[in-house]
Amino acid sequence: MKTLEETLRTWEAVIGLEIHAELTSLQTKMFCGCKLEFGAPPNTHTCPVCLGMPGALPVPNRAAIESIVLAGLATNCEIEKHSMFYRKNYMYPDMAKNFQTTQGPIAFCMRGHLDLAVDGAAAKERVDLGDCAVGEQCGNVTRTEDGYVAHVGITRIHMEEDAGKMVHFGGDEGRIAGATHSLVDYNRAGTPLIELVTEPDLRTPAEARLFMQKLRQIYLALGISDCSMEEGSLRCDGNVSLRRRGETKFGTKTELKNMNSFKNLHDGLAYEICRQAEVLEEGGIIYQETRHWDPTMKCTIVMRVKETADDYRLFPEPDLAPYDLTDEFIEGVRAKLPELPDEKELRFQRDYGLTPYDARHLVEHRETADFFERSMECAGDDAAAFAKPLANRVNNDLLAYLNNHAEVTLDALPITPQRLVDLERLLADGSISTKQGKEVFAALLEKDCDPAVIVEERGMKQVSDSGEIEAVVDEVLAANPDKVEQYLGGKTGLLGFFVGQCMKATHGQGNPQLINEVIVRKLSERA
Ligand code: ADP
Ligand code: ZN
Ligand code: MG
Repeated sequence: MKTLEETLRTWEAVIGLEIHAELTSLQTKMFCGCKLEFGAPPNTHTCPVCLGMPGALPVPNRAAIESIVLAGLATNCEIEKHSMFYRKNYMYPDMAKNFQTTQGPIAFCMRGHLDLAVDGAAAKERVDLGDCAVGEQCGNVTRTEDGYVAHVGITRIHMEEDAGKMVHFGGDEGRIAGATHSLVDYNRAGTPLIELVTEPDLRTPAEARLFMQKLRQIYLALGISDCSMEEGSLRCDGNVSLRRRGETKFGTKTELKNMNSFKNLHDGLAYEICRQAEVLEEGGIIYQETRHWDPTMKCTIVMRVKETADDYRLFPEPDLAPYDLTDEFIEGVRAKLPELPDEKELRFQRDYGLTPYDARHLVEHRETADFFERSMECAGDDAAAFAKPLANRVNNDLLAYLNNHAEVTLDALPITPQRLVDLERLLADGSISTKQGKEVFAALLEKDCDPAVIVEERGMKQVSDSGEIEAVVDEVLAANPDKVEQYLGGKTGLLGFFVGQCMKATHGQGNPQLINEVIVRKLSERA
């Protein structure tokens, strides 16, 4: 199979996502008063409504409607005042009612969009922007200095309910295949779920991953879901098709189910794009089917051929009246909108003078963005000068550490914003070198300690005393008269040699910048 890069030179990928989020911050289920609780003993949070008993009547959860309207407002959707619920009929034991209550083509939130800033390695997957100049708009993207911004349409966000959970025994890895018996837990049945459907506007797996990450940041900022991909409160299906570059008609798509991490979403789509290209290049056809990405085998497997909407016999739910949202309700929800990631990014640029790149990457992770902000508060009068080094420290060192230690959270680390600022102070006043700064930072991740004490204990205080430095420089110059001669004769590249000798003489603790200055001054005095 060809690589993604090779494949995307001939083929254009068309991707649309369907993203489900459980509204985990709510107290109760969508249509009944049962408690929402992850991990409770099986079937302890059930009632006649969520068990589908004949005659039980559903009542919509107002707080859930508020949450979906929040989600819609935060993703630039139009809020549809008049919408209704439908029954999507199917038979599977995970839903005792034999139908899922969901919304039809007109949902609470319609016609939204998100703009994705794509840069770095992620932008490289887009191989078709070679002729697109910075600032120019090419299709749905605008080229930027370090990548591009993609404008991604959102078809709708609709309200629905989750099904129960089945556990299969006796088969392979809990799969239904080969199982001897299955158990069902209805605790999750009826959990409020919002599904966001994008337009087929994404063109690379990296864009799909970024969309998902950005949406997660937004939902977390709104506080409507804990968005845990491992626990399944945020789930994503990826639809993907190919067309030859230059072609305007869409090809047949396949749907990848439940990719439960950002990496799986990216890698599953990348594999599927390469697979489809191979089939098409060999003269085959793509069937509209649902496939499962297997991250260990690194391939996608057919789950089922696509059912059509007709199979579900979608019809208006007779037990729920059409829903009318008032302006008052919508404005009340709007007033509750918190600061969103895009706004925070602009504020970081405006208030702290950060570059768009630094601001964007800080905001990507709420914990580190908060940590940065608290550090800026601790920096007090030095905040303006410390913004850039603090942003770098958080974006590079801190994030790298967190990425390499997936099991630790920032809260659990001993490092505090105040300690970080104290460290940056030692760097700013030349007490320690950049390299030593990294060592102190690593120590702060291990144990709570004053950076000055670490510097003292490890004897790594940088020599910035100019008298001391002058004496060392004099010594080094006196010991190397031939090199001084050559330097004065024009071989200025020897500066590095002198600095190296001085660093050696100070056992690596001399302030290199100061040493540099003193050498240049002393040599120019001799010229
Ligand atoms: P279905 O009826 O199969 O569910 P929808 O039209 O509802 O298809 O779209 C489902 C998702 O698939 C949406 O995110 C949409 O953007 C995406 N999609 C639709 N057509 C294509 C296509 N040809 N290639 C890739 N994605 C597509
Ligand atoms: Zn219930
Ligand atoms: Mg659909």
